[in-house]
Amino acid sequence: MYKVFYINTNSHILNTPIEYLTGISALKGDLLRKELGIFCFKDLLEHYPLRHVDKTKVDLIQSLNYQTEYAQVAGRLIQMQIVGEKRSRRLIVHLQDNTGSIELVWFQGINWVEKMLVVGHNYLAFGKVGFFMNKPQMAHPEIEIYNSQTAGGKAFLEPIYPSTEKLKAKGLTGKAFNKLTVELFSKISEKDLPENLPLQLLEKYKLMKRFAAFHQIHLPINEQQYQQALRRLKFEEFFFAQFSIQLIKIKRNQFSKGLIFQKVGNLFSNFFENEMPFQLTNAQKNVLKEIRKDTASGHQMNRLLQGDVGSGKTMVALLSMLIAADNGFQSVLMAPTEILAQQHYNTISAQLKNLPVKVQLLTGSVTAKMRKPILLGCEDGSIDILIGTHAIIEDNVIFKNIGFAVVDEQHKFGVAQRAKLWKKNTIPPHILVMTATPIPRTLALTVYGDLDYSVIDELPPGRQPITTLHRFEQARPQIMDFIKEQIGLGRQAYLIYPLIEESSKLDYENLMKGYEEVKSFFPEPKYWISMVHGKQPADQKDSNMQKFASGDTQILVGTTVIEVGVNVPNASVMVIESAEKFGLSQLHQLRGRVGRGSEKSYCILLSGQKLSNDARERLKIMTGTNDGFKIAEKDLELRGPGEIEGTKQSGALQFKLASIVDDKAMLEVAREEVTAILLNDFELNQPDNQPLKLFLQSQRGKTAWSKIA
Ligand code: ADP
Ligand code: MG
Repeated sequence: MYKVFYINTNSHILNTPIEYLTGISALKGDLLRKELGIFCFKDLLEHYPLRHVDKTKVDLIQSLNYQTEYAQVAGRLIQMQIVGEKRSRRLIVHLQDNTGSIELVWFQGINWVEKMLVVGHNYLAFGKVGFFMNKPQMAHPEIEIYNSQTAGGKAFLEPIYPSTEKLKAKGLTGKAFNKLTVELFSKISEKDLPENLPLQLLEKYKLMKRFAAFHQIHLPINEQQYQQALRRLKFEEFFFAQFSIQLIKIKRNQFSKGLIFQKVGNLFSNFFENEMPFQLTNAQKNVLKEIRKDTASGHQMNRLLQGDVGSGKTMVALLSMLIAADNGFQSVLMAPTEILAQQHYNTISAQLKNLPVKVQLLTGSVTAKMRKPILLGCEDGSIDILIGTHAIIEDNVIFKNIGFAVVDEQHKFGVAQRAKLWKKNTIPPHILVMTATPIPRTLALTVYGDLDYSVIDELPPGRQPITTLHRFEQARPQIMDFIKEQIGLGRQAYLIYPLIEESSKLDYENLMKGYEEVKSFFPEPKYWISMVHGKQPADQKDSNMQKFASGDTQILVGTTVIEVGVNVPNASVMVIESAEKFGLSQLHQLRGRVGRGSEKSYCILLSGQKLSNDARERLKIMTGTNDGFKIAEKDLELRGPGEIEGTKQSGALQFKLASIVDDKAMLEVAREEVTAILLNDFELNQPDNQPLKLFLQSQRGKTAWSKIA
């Protein structure tokens, strides 16, 4: 709700300061700005109603029941009193009609509500119905004088707006806003809100015209018109969001230069034919083709690669880096943690052992002495592939000729870090961003719409689906027996404890307690246990991890530091303690640590008996599916787009009306139409596109298009 107060230089009527509206005093204007961010007419226009009430419909108090959500009742105010002290102080009002009475309660704004109401008068109250001791109740209803003569008869829908206690105290209740919008529409006309969508789209999708839509969303003549208005305005939101995102992409493609990888050379072919331990899946092949096309195009590639855990993204990255090397370019592979970087280094250098490709590892824990030759190797070009953590984008790492950069597990990297990568060469390197936490397609289109987008939607053959079970804590002994059985078969097991905050003492105590407990179940020397957590020094963490990876220990007790990417194919059991404390994507990530080999794997989610509804739902989803994309969709539904990792700050998600969860199909349509327009009529010369062109010109300076065109 922050907004900079600006001096208005644009004389468009919609930019008129809100005080110019009849009924808005300087004081109210101030409150509107502070409380709701309403500065000018346009802001009020976009302050949409929460809902509408049909004033002609009055519910009988007797008819209210537990199923009733909202109701509008009319009756005589028969009693009014303030009860309670301090924080429990409240105003209780009894309203009575011919069938019964209802209690209206206010906890805030008590004094002004009391002043406004008079015992004996008739009132109309609208609000959410609750029941207390079997009697209907409304907290903070909208209330106004009721006159049975004026109400009734003519049907109309009255808008109820979002308001705040402070505004209500000054008379601007959710209903009172109504007068402001009526006033606003008396001042503006169709010419102030000209059509801005291509005409052919209005026809094709039967969209209401723009001015009518704004009018009908506030003051609809009926429900159907309201729905049409809503649909039109949602479409407009998606359309312009997509328009600016796709422009950014086009602009980059048109004006940015990219390094050209001319050929697929010997390194690639040699590896592909002689060294690669398996056949690529079709999905991997397709992504590789997309990358190949991009890197030969002369434009810089910015590609987001999504693939579920275990889908084999690393191999795609490796093959791409070999093509870079074939063309004389260096590559980097950036991972979010030391453990992951180390693991990538181990696998990749083993896979490349027969090829003349020099691979190096650079992380924060590499000592100054060892760092020197690495930095030198980057600068003189003798290192072909540098694998590491953030350390590899520090300013002192200079490359002779970097051409390709892979960012693994993207959400842990910020935009600023991506930008740093760009500057590592005079022509920026191609960038492949890989994420193992799938995000729903709709989210990807809105948040990462400026990136090209590839999906690996197929797992390598021979994988057995992981069986996921939810058990309560009492089942622990049986679970330990099950782990013993699996270890007896030569397998390994993870036991993961939640670590909500790195600094939380309680969490560490739980982890240590768990460790002792596991040790008593699995005594040395028959069993060996590794423990890994974020408070250990890096080398200790690594060596413990390494012991588990090499099979020297059969059990790994740890926190989520092992979460991303760790690959121990022999592990077949993942037990997650206090699973109700984890989010869906984290649970899915953790589960992805098993099922990586050919053996049947299990994920056991342990929880307490008391579960919130959300937690119960999450556990149900986890036991119901292994599909990361389905889980991501559910995650989006449960948490809402603002909460998904990596998207919190994204302005791309701030739609006022549209929802990327509920209006998915519409987003897709808007996206396709924008793509078609930009492809066929980039300069917007076709008659059909004139409304769009004029609108964009009127927004000059505010959109990317006006800067290009
Ligand atoms: P992620 O996409 O989660 O990063 P990885 O790249 O770590 O997955 O791959 C998971 C495992 O699958 C690795 O052991 C890898 O060697 C193996 N793998 C990758 N591609 C294939 C394939 N086409 N056929 C068989 N195994 C594969
Ligand atoms: Mg990976």
